[in-house]
Parts: sequence; C-alpha cells; structure tokens
Amino acid sequence: MIKTDVLIVGCGCSGLFCALNLPRDYKITIITKSMTERNDSFLAQGGICVQRDDDDFDSFFEDTLKAGHYENDRESVKIMINSSREVINDLLSFGVEFTKDENGEFAYTKEGAHSKKRILYNKDMTGKEITSKLLLEAQSRENIQFFEYTPIIDIIEKDGECVGAILLTPEKELVTVQCKYLVLASGGVGGLFRHSTNFRHLTGDALAIALEHGVELKNISYIQIHPTTLFTEEPERRRFLISESVRGEGAKLYDKNMKRFTNELLPRDLLTQAIKEQMAKDGTDHVWEDLRTIPKKELREHFPNIVNHCHSFDYNVFKECIPVVPAQHYFMGGIKVNYESKTTMERLYAVGETACNGVHGKNRLASNSLLESLVFAKRAALDIIKNPKEYIDLPEVDMSKYDDIPKLKEGRKARVLEEIEKDRLKNV
Ligand SMILES: Cc1cc2nc3c(=O)[nH]c(=O)nc-3n(C[C@H](O)[C@H](O)[C@H](O)COP(=O)(O)OP(=O)(O)OC[C@H]3O[C@@H](n4cnc5c(N)ncnc54)[C@H](O)[C@@H]3O)c2cc1C
Repeated sequence: MIKTDVLIVGCGCSGLFCALNLPRDYKITIITKSMTERNDSFLAQGGICVQRDDDDFDSFFEDTLKAGHYENDRESVKIMINSSREVINDLLSFGVEFTKDENGEFAYTKEGAHSKKRILYNKDMTGKEITSKLLLEAQSRENIQFFEYTPIIDIIEKDGECVGAILLTPEKELVTVQCKYLVLASGGVGGLFRHSTNFRHLTGDALAIALEHGVELKNISYIQIHPTTLFTEEPERRRFLISESVRGEGAKLYDKNMKRFTNELLPRDLLTQAIKEQMAKDGTDHVWEDLRTIPKKELREHFPNIVNHCHSFDYNVFKECIPVVPAQHYFMGGIKVNYESKTTMERLYAVGETACNGVHGKNRLASNSLLESLVFAKRAALDIIKNPKEYIDLPEVDMSKYDDIPKLKEGRKARVLEEIEKDRLKNV
C-alpha cells in the first residue's frame, strides 16, 4: 500500500502545476497511464492566452463569452482572466520561454474569435515548452514521486469522502493508495472517438469513476470539434492539428474548386459547421488549406512543427495546399467543480480538461485551455493547503470487482459515451 498526502492522477500541465503549487513538505504521488511526456499538454501548438493590459479585460471577457455562446460561468471567466498574468509569471519563474519580437518584447499571436492579439506562444510548440519545464521542475523535487503506466482503476470512498484509490501497476498488480486528497487531472475524452487530435489513451476514465461514485458531472455533451486537422487515409491514427493560429496569420480555406467559401476566423464550432456543409456539398472528405498566404519566413519560423509534419506526409506547404478535415479536439464538460476545483465529493478535486468549472461555456475560445488548466490547478492546490486533513482508515474493498480489467475498461467507455449521448439529448 502507498500512503501519500496528495495523489494526482495525470501529469499534463494541470496535474504538474497543482503539484508544484503544493508545499515541499507534502508527500505527493503523481501517476500516469502512459509515459510522463505522452499527454495532450505536450501537443498544444497555438499558445496560451493572457490579459495583455488592464484595458484588455473587457474584450477578453467578451471574446470568451461570445465563443462560449454566453453559457459560460462568468465568475470562472473573471477568475481565469484576472489570474492570467500571475500564472504567466509563475511559468517564467520555472524557465518557460515565449517567442519574442525583434525588440525583445513578447510577441503575441491571434486565433479564431479573438478580437485582438493576446496569445503568448513558443513557435508552434507552446504546450511542449510549458509542460516539459513543469515536468523537469516536478521531477527535481524530492517530495514528488512519479509512477508511469499506472492507471487509476477506482477511488475509495468512506462516508462520502474520498480516502484513497486503487491503481494497476505495469506488472498488472492492484495497489491500494491511502491519501488525504485526490486530484483528478486525467485530461479529455478523445480516445473514445474515432477521429480525434487527442492521445488515444485519454478515454475519460475519471468520468466513469465519478459516475460510479455519484460524483456530479456537468455539460458532458459539450465537445469541441477542431475544424482543421490534416486529412490522411489512416482512420485510427491521432489526427494532427493544423493550428488555428495559422489561420490567424492568414491561411485560407478552399473548396474542391480552390475557391474560398467561409470566414476562416469564425469560432471553432461555426467554422466546423461551414466546412462540413462544404464537404457535403462537394461530396469530398476534406477541404483545402492554403498556408502559402503566410510569408515564407513567418511560416518557417513560427510553425516549424506543422511545416515538418506536413512534409513527412509529402506535402510542401510552401508550394501546395494541404487537405484538412474536422476532428474531435476538446472537452468543455467534465466533472463538476466549484471555483476552487473541488468536486461534489469531499477531498476529491478535478482540474484541467477532466473538470468543468463552466469557464468555456458551450465552446472553448482558442488558447484558453492551457490557461484555464493552470489557473484552476493552482486554486486546487491553494484550497488543499487551506483545508488541512488527517488520513482516514481505508474501508474493506471488494477487490473481486477488478478481476477482469479489460472488461471493466470497455464497460466504462460505453457508459461514458452513453451518458454523453443522454446529455446531448437533454440539451437538444
Ligand atoms: C493537438 C492539440 C493542440 C492543442 N493546442 C492548444 C493550444 O494551443 N492552446 C491551448 O490552450 N490548448 C490547446 N490544446 C488543449 C490543451 O492542450 C489541453 O486541454 C490541456 O493540455 C489539458 O491538460 P490536462 O492536464 O487537463 O490533460 P493532459 O495534458 O491530456 O494530461 C492528462 C494526463 O492524465 C493521464 N491519465 C489519463 N487517464 C488516466 C488514468 N486512468 N490513470 C492515470 N492517468 C491517467 C494521462 O496519461 C496524462 O498524463 C490542444 C490540444 C491538442 C490535443
């Protein structure tokens, strides 16, 4: 049995940032279903939003609400924007670097539905820059222990409080954890969908566990489809994202006759709809994206990852258009949490894409998710510090429930998809 003050499930940016905001005398255990570097946080290309100056609050607030169809929790949005500069300063203190302009000042970029440039970025690998630096810092701290390839199988509850968890080791043994707090930071649900930009192992496991324990979920049918991912013939591969900031910098979309058919900077859901309609009209399985409208130097320097990836599929973005198609991308819904990221179960927190504090409403504004993940992960850590707890003795657990793990996993995936569909029908 493992005994730890805080068990964090997931080592994307939200899990790591929560750990780094906890005191160094707390024993923290971070588990991940895969390797430490294999999570969506590493994939983020576009960047991270920040309130550029005091005058930017109103327009940042309005852009976020407009993209979210005004279904956003306004207090969450306020908290996110007001905390943005502090969180960026925290990142800088961990050695994170953002691209600078020729005067040595931060360069800002723009994506769809932003009324002005307010996105900090590092080339087109912002997520990797942020998350690798957070990981390095966490790995250097003696109070934080990592376990790779160790998924959570269940939480253990006693009298309505979360007091521990069951994990599966790489040797396929079940291990019991006793903890004072448990933080679910297990990312999105892309692995449940055939076409997704997410890692395949992100299958909404925490949602299934929450459902089984009566922990409330919120807006779980609010799933964002990204309008532009590279179209390839291989159906089961993770779809490669062609970042929205490419369109922010001038890329255009064409139909089968190489004619523009829409405003490329519409919010994601509306642009997805326009592309799907065009594909249906043209009888095609993709539309075309033209990056040649971006100056060559800018394309090469700002988007090296996209240029190289397309090249590996034999597309020369300097000379030709690339085929793009919409794919599942982001989960706005999740485990319902309050402004301190606490779920409806005592001692159980949820942060990042797994959680829903309502900040994104019905549709996420581009580059708000890294920011939201970090802001509310820090709030979870601060709430844990503010509410000291003692260990509670673990109750007897009937381990025979976990005899057939593959069957349990399949059943859980089906259950989450069923609940997503139920929520969708409720919202029609
Ligand atoms: C291609 C792509 C590009 C993006 N670009 C941007 C962008 O430019 N700007 C932006 O703001 N956002 C972007 N996003 C979204 C953003 O990256 C994610 O929303 C954010 O990183 C989520 O962080 P997280 O910590 O919640 O989850 P993740 O980083 O996905 O981490 C989840 C962790 O949970 C672990 N896990 C899952 N299930 C279990 C289990 N059962 N047991 C143990 N561990 C488990 C995983 O192994 C992983 O370590 C992008 C997303 C993608 C996919």
